[in-house]
Amino acid sequence: MGFKLGAREMNVARTIEEIRAHVGAARSAGKTVGLVPTMGALHVGHASLIEVARRQCDAVVVSIFVNPTQFGPGEDLEAYPRPFENDLELCREHGVAAVFAPSPEDMYGQEPLTWVVVEKLTEPLCGRSRPGHFRGVTTVCAKLFNIVGPDVAFFGQKDGQQALVIKRMVADLNMPLEIVVCPTVREPDGLAVSSRNRYLTAEQRKDATRLYAALSRCRELIEAGQSDPDVLGRAMREMFAQVPSIEIEYVSIVDAETLAELEQVRGQVLVAVAVRLGPARLIDNILLDAP
Ligand code: AMP
Repeated sequence: MGFKLGAREMNVARTIEEIRAHVGAARSAGKTVGLVPTMGALHVGHASLIEVARRQCDAVVVSIFVNPTQFGPGEDLEAYPRPFENDLELCREHGVAAVFAPSPEDMYGQEPLTWVVVEKLTEPLCGRSRPGHFRGVTTVCAKLFNIVGPDVAFFGQKDGQQALVIKRMVADLNMPLEIVVCPTVREPDGLAVSSRNRYLTAEQRKDATRLYAALSRCRELIEAGQSDPDVLGRAMREMFAQVPSIEIEYVSIVDAETLAELEQVRGQVLVAVAVRLGPARLIDNILLDAP
């Protein structure tokens, strides 16, 4: 299916065969291919990934697939927003060459007996509260990389642990593509843009600014010379404690490469938080170069 927009036409592939044919044609024309994997409900964060991809590659493919294998029991798989027509519009506006939007049956036609598992890096942070989540993410990304065959795939720092895990999978399995990690796009008040922000009431949306406020406080303290992770963790927890609607899942300061807990904050560190706020589970992080 093709849509005309001025001189540009965007291909909407609903099957693996269709996207392979489209990418095959782009390759035959000598084009480099960039992939932006998403679960849809696209927003300015996704758009920024698409823009980076457009600058770096001749043809950009956006995949839209709410991947069931990365959701745990009781998580928001069914509730996850699926505004497909709006998503196509955003992709068209940003000059995407093709959208790949397969059905769950197409992606997991038979019960999968093969999984891609990255060890260690998937244990802390989100791995602790979402068992099986990263196995679903790495497996679906490996499948998408095999189906689309991109030269480069683009991920957001918003999901910092995910980006690190994907990079490691690509390195460990010698997958022939480059992974580019793009900065987190934020609302003017600092809240990281997320498809899940739309679950929030106006009141909860206000409370959600605490995540970036706590991360910023941690940055300030580190810049002022504080290097004790316990002191820093406590300062962030206190900021959340002032907001009764927030339930902390984790507040962590870890090595940015290994995600190991630190005895002293030094070098490249990842400060990451996850909270529950009403119906939403929100995550955010910042990367810091500590003195
Ligand atoms: P999702 O659709 O939530 O699975 O996200 C698809 C990709 O977009 C992932 O690589 C995310 O890290 C990235 N992403 C989501 N939100 C943002 C944001 N606010 N800034 C930058 N990248 C983002």
